[in-house]
Amino acid sequence: MTGQATPFIVVDRVCKSFGAHQVLKDVSTTFNTGEVTVIIGASGSGKSTLLRAINRLEPHDSGTITIGGEPVGDDHHLLQKQRSEVGMVFQQFNLFGHMSVLDNVTLAPRRIRHTQRAQANEQAMALLRRVGMQDHAHKYPWQLSGGQQQRVAIARALAMQPKVMLFDEPTSALDPEMVQEVLDVMRELARGGMTMIVVTHEMGFAREVSDRVMFFDQGRIAHDAPPAEFFNNPANDRIRAFIGRMG
Ligand code: ADP
Ligand code: MG
Repeated sequence: MTGQATPFIVVDRVCKSFGAHQVLKDVSTTFNTGEVTVIIGASGSGKSTLLRAINRLEPHDSGTITIGGEPVGDDHHLLQKQRSEVGMVFQQFNLFGHMSVLDNVTLAPRRIRHTQRAQANEQAMALLRRVGMQDHAHKYPWQLSGGQQQRVAIARALAMQPKVMLFDEPTSALDPEMVQEVLDVMRELARGGMTMIVVTHEMGFAREVSDRVMFFDQGRIAHDAPPAEFFNNPANDRIRAFIGRMG
């Protein structure tokens, strides 16, 4: 990144438990505008819970999360605004099965922004071109491969013109030959300056695309460093072992 870092999402001493199990333990960090953060760590370490807390799919117990200076909480009006600023892409693509690709992408702008159909279609087609899916606009999800569905899911998230994109293991459910086409779309997004937080096991993507790699361990951010430093000079044996397993 060049110039001054502008904090966009600030996480301050956030805790979250499910019953007696504390999943986030005093997590504090800042995500800056234009920055690509990759989050890695063992299954169950709290990565998804942090992403879900950021857009309030999961309320946190204590501490604060702010987006653009405004706290994430139960204020319904504010939450709707924040959710439109935070795009999310999941491991399971979650497209609406009974709707065409085009309708999947135009749904939120039409329902929430009240964008007229013609304009929504035009914007959606531009997004579908961006993810290489313009020739599939009138197909249904079941007619697409997993990689194609995930690219549509990215276009759908972009349709609300979010300021940040959260990705939760976006390629983990894909057949290996489809992983790259999705990573390529994400790489292009990063190149275009999108602020991104990406939970992934794709170490190549982390090395090449991220500004920062964060290692989660049992509900804590155990390490946070630029990729070169993170991979070339692992901070401890747990991280070294994790990188080794991931290749
Ligand atoms: P990760 O994404 O790093 O694999 P998660 O954030 O999904 O980890 O989960 C962290 C821990 O919290 C896991 O032990 C998981 O079983 C538990 N957990 C997550 N969501 C819930 C839930 N809704 N109810 C109970 N336990 C949960
Ligand atoms: Mg997860």
